[in-house]
Formats: sequence, structure tokens, C-alpha cells
Amino acid sequence: MRFIFLGVQGAGKGTQSKALATLLNIPHISTGDLLRLAKENETPLGLKAKEYMDKGELVPDALVLAMVRERLSQEDAQLGWILDGFPRNLYQVGALDGLLVGMDQPTYDRVIYLEVPDNIVSPRLLERAKKEKNRTDDNPEVISKRLQIYHEETAPLIDLYKKRKLLVSVNGNQLLEAVTADVQKAATYDDAL
Ligand code: AMP
Repeated sequence: MRFIFLGVQGAGKGTQSKALATLLNIPHISTGDLLRLAKENETPLGLKAKEYMDKGELVPDALVLAMVRERLSQEDAQLGWILDGFPRNLYQVGALDGLLVGMDQPTYDRVIYLEVPDNIVSPRLLERAKKEKNRTDDNPEVISKRLQIYHEETAPLIDLYKKRKLLVSVNGNQLLEAVTADVQKAATYDDAL
């Protein structure tokens, strides 16, 4: 089973995609987490990525793609995975599709879209920023930059995957447990598509 999670920052994508990965016993692959780890460890990739992440911009496609290719080729990712935070623009969609063909992996089964209105997400992100003061990518200017980039570059993926009949929308603006239950249905029910 292979899934992509889509949704604006603060929609609960991280929490929900991790819960589904645990339930299905497949790896949760978050490009944001991998990049933050590289940044903390000051690897060559992390040092390059930092410049972009700290401004709320997307890290160049080539860097992210090489990282995803490496992660998807690991043994635990051969039978399934959940991608969280990737693809994030139209170029990455095509690149992922090509990557999977090249690696002889089946394509993803569904794209789960966590829908939460912007006016709910912004205060959530600011709250998170207050709690995690050390995260330079969560200050108010960076948050608004990230939201702008989401709308310009990532939101078009919603229509694309809808046209490909892969998109399943879940209302992310409910109690956490209700969202988790709906995500499970979206991922596993035959008629959810
Ligand atoms: P996230 O935790 O998914 O919001 O990611 C944190 C930051 O990592 C983003 O603001 C980007 O700078 C970078 N990033 C994560 N995923 C990608 C991606 N697929 N393409 C480019 N940059 C990414």
C-alpha cells in the first residue's frame, strides 16, 4: 500500500499520516522531517537546505528528489509507504512517477487530502511556533511565506489528483479521533475513491 498525504501546513498531516503508517505497518516518510534531521546534523544536504527552509521556501527539487530516491530504495520501503510533504509542486509529481517506474515500484494507491480552512490553520501554526521556539521555520513571516507557497505551488496538485481519480478528501477540521477514523476509511475502504 502506498499513499501520499496532501494538505496545508498545520492541517494535521504529520499526526494523521504517522497514525496510518503505524496502523498499516509501513514507513512514514516525511521530507520535512528528513530535511530537518539533515539540517540538525549539518550534513552537506542539510547545510544547503537550511538556507531555503529558514526562509519558508521550498528546497530545490533536485536535492529533495535525490533524498526521496534514497529513502524509497531502502528495504523497509519496498512493500509500501506513506509520503508526507512530498510531492509539493507539479514538477515533483512527474519526478516521483518517473522515480517509481525507474525503481520498479508500483505507483501509489491513493492521495489523502486533509482539508482544513486557512482561517483555522494560521492560528494553529502560530500556536505551534510559540511552543517550539527553536524552529526557525515556524515564525510568523516564515509561516505566511509557507502558506503562500502552498497555495501557489502545492494546491494545484489537488485538482491534478482529482482528475487522475486518486484523491480522497477528509475533513481535517474535526476532533482528532474523528479525523483519524475518517483517514482510515479513506485509505482502506474500496468505495472511498
Ligand atoms: P514540512 O515540515 O513538510 O512543512 O517541511 C519543512 C520545510 O522543508 C519546508 O518549508 C521546505 O523548506 C522543506 N521541504 C519539505 N518538503 C519539501 C519538498 N517536497 N520540496 C521542497 N522543500 C521541501
